[in-house]
Amino acid sequence: MKVTDHIKNANGKTLFSFEIIPPKKGNSIEQLYNNIDPLMEFKPPFIDVTTSREEYVYIEKEGLLDRKITRMRPGTVGICAAIKHKYDIDTVPHVLCGGFSREETEYLLVDCHYLGINNVMALRGDAMKHQQYFEASKGGHQYAKELVSQIQNLNKGKYLHDVLEAVDKSDFCIGVAGYPEKHIEAPSLKTDLKRLKEKVDAGADYVVTQMFFDNKKYFEFVEAAKAEGINVPIIPGIKPLAIKRHLQLLPQVFKIDLPEDLIDAVEGCKSNKEVREIGIEWAITQSKELQKSGVPVLHYYSMGKSDNIKAIASALF
Ligand code: FAD
Repeated sequence: MKVTDHIKNANGKTLFSFEIIPPKKGNSIEQLYNNIDPLMEFKPPFIDVTTSREEYVYIEKEGLLDRKITRMRPGTVGICAAIKHKYDIDTVPHVLCGGFSREETEYLLVDCHYLGINNVMALRGDAMKHQQYFEASKGGHQYAKELVSQIQNLNKGKYLHDVLEAVDKSDFCIGVAGYPEKHIEAPSLKTDLKRLKEKVDAGADYVVTQMFFDNKKYFEFVEAAKAEGINVPIIPGIKPLAIKRHLQLLPQVFKIDLPEDLIDAVEGCKSNKEVREIGIEWAITQSKELQKSGVPVLHYYSMGKSDNIKAIASALF
């Protein structure tokens, strides 16, 4: 079922969902299941599975370093299919512009369609580690909006190069990313919102936000999005802080602000175990307020560990 149908069927009740990261290749999928299992009691209607950008690795060969390109955490669509099959719930693969040509994207979407996966998150992806700015792959998309258009074309039975009458059209429900504190490259929040509106106009059905730690940012973002004419559901993304280093890491990587009270509380912690407790408490308070305001879904970034998400969900669902 589509994410938007799950929201409609919930009749205003806030749903629980979360995002997982594929394991590093060479690891078993069991570790993923071990993190998903404890969260199933909260009945997530869908689980997101991220896609990682490819990266360069250097392999020593006869005294020289050979540069090879690799994806460390492949398997997004396979994991989506495995989870769907094992738990009988919907899965949402993240589909990136970066690292994929339009043709490769088309094949990936065809795979999803055959597997009965009819939700996708359409994302641009970040720049590769060695790049200062994002560069589209050869034959790939520059912006998520173009990817949304490609998926919508497929929904209409329009393939890239083939003139054929599609008997069995796809019907993807498309999610896109939104940034309550603006995307790092956007010159202003207003400009970024205009870009978000373009993604919705191209056919995006719902938005999932970047993490934020101050609900005011989310509420203002939703209001500004409405004023811009964005009328699709905006799902808040919540990440519980887990280690002291997040105080530097999260603002640096995601260009988000952390509230002073949270910073003070974390700085006062003597161990990361204490930080994890603070992170859980903060996320519970945030989630309760968001739930009370009637958000359609509370979507958690699990980062491969579920104990803190379980503690938060237990207080809410
Ligand atoms: P876009 O919507 O294309 O926007 C990128 C930037 O370009 C923005 O600054 C926007 O304002 C600007 N822009 C858009 N259109 C134009 C235009 N026509 N002209 C000029 N500027 C324009 N990354 C991963 O690698 N894997 C994942 O699985 C993943 N999952 C994510 C899930 C969520 C919920 C979120 C919020 C982010 C996720 N990301 C993921 C990170 C995301 O890929 C990055 O934030 C990326 O830098 C931007 O992606 P986007 O889809 O928002 O890009």
